[in-house]
Amino acid sequence: MLIVQKFGGTSVGTIDRIKNVARRAIATQKKGHDVVVVVSAMSGETNRLLGLAQQISSIPDERELDVIASTGEQVTVGLLALAIQAEGGKASSLLGHQVRILTDSAFARARIQDIDDKPVREALRAGKIAVVAGFQGVDKDGNITTLGRGGSDTSAVAVAAALNADVCEIYTDVDGVYTADPNVVSSARKVSRISYEEMLELASLGAKVLQIRSVEFGMKYQVPIHVRSSFNDNEGTWVVPEEKSMEAVVVSGVTATRDEAKVTLSNVIDKPGIQAQVLRPLAQAGIVVDVIVQAHIQNGRTNLTFTLPGSDLARARDILAKTCADLCPPEEIKAEQNLSKVSVVGVGMRSHAGVALKMFEILAADNIHIHLISTSEIKISCVIEAKYAELAVRSLHDGFGLGQA
Ligand code: ADP
Ligand code: ASP
Ligand code: MG
Repeated sequence: MLIVQKFGGTSVGTIDRIKNVARRAIATQKKGHDVVVVVSAMSGETNRLLGLAQQISSIPDERELDVIASTGEQVTVGLLALAIQAEGGKASSLLGHQVRILTDSAFARARIQDIDDKPVREALRAGKIAVVAGFQGVDKDGNITTLGRGGSDTSAVAVAAALNADVCEIYTDVDGVYTADPNVVSSARKVSRISYEEMLELASLGAKVLQIRSVEFGMKYQVPIHVRSSFNDNEGTWVVPEEKSMEAVVVSGVTATRDEAKVTLSNVIDKPGIQAQVLRPLAQAGIVVDVIVQAHIQNGRTNLTFTLPGSDLARARDILAKTCADLCPPEEIKAEQNLSKVSVVGVGMRSHAGVALKMFEILAADNIHIHLISTSEIKISCVIEAKYAELAVRSLHDGFGLGQA
């Protein structure tokens, strides 16, 4: 088999752990498999590097930021290749531009466009373990790019897809994908199998165990993803196409995002095109808006509300004050911060009634005020005050009966 193994920051956080990763990769190779290892920076390193840049500029040039942030992974691939050699194995490190992980030029959030499989295949043919730097790529002009926080997951699944690997193993600091973040909900249960669709929702709604784009790649190229612990040999969670039995479970996970903000434009003249006028300049500035709600009021006026990342709020307010002056006066543009979006996810809710009702009852029992609601076929999200997020996640987890029996 061809196996891609990805190790996250905690799993390569010390020299001992890197040696441990080396032994695991060699053991896999000794079973007769071809092994590609993708690694993150040592835990805390990416934050440290970004912090250094912040000390020089509060809004650093993103091209330079990627030059800096990508070095964390350069160190770990070198260390791991050395560790494999020290254990008697053969290994070569490969940086993003050496594999040639070609991305677009959206620094700090680049998307992978193409992966050349030749350098990795050459290393494998020479009997080596190929050690690939996660998180980084290169654009068509040769600039170093990074894939966004948590991006090594995406590097790993994309490399697995390009090589047509049999499995992509994501080694992390928990035993798999749980019904809620096990570091928040102590009764959370590990799930043995989860569909790509559910995982996509969980990842986009706050469960950082997999970066959302890694799940997109897995789904598109049908790469089986096995999320498991780097500290033991337990079977983890398989992310796979949906299976019939999954429908029996109404809610398979509860999750929350932090740091959401909400913007409301009140008393806007209700005419065709206003929504585009409001959102276009935000999109041009790369600001991602989410839950969008419009409520018609009276006399041809409407209220338009949407959420965005709290870190983008100041920029968004500046932009809206300039671009929406003809729609509503600045005092009618109101913002709220410190919000969180809690969500329940499950393919089973397609065929079960009363799931939203139950969610609202559970939040009401905790006296939690709901600001906004949004649903898709397989998820229900409520925007609430961030200080109640953990309480809400625990109550929903209990209320939907997800805890250990
Ligand atoms: P790595 O450094 O290995 O990439 P991350 O910190 O990015 O690890 O992701 C693992 C973390 O994801 C866990 O420690 C856990 O706190 C968090 N997490 C959030 N939601 C979930 C979930 N539903 N299942 C498992 N882990 C989760
Ligand atoms: N080192 C990067 C980060 O901290 C990528 C990753 O860990 O996946 O975001
Ligand atoms: Mg991660």
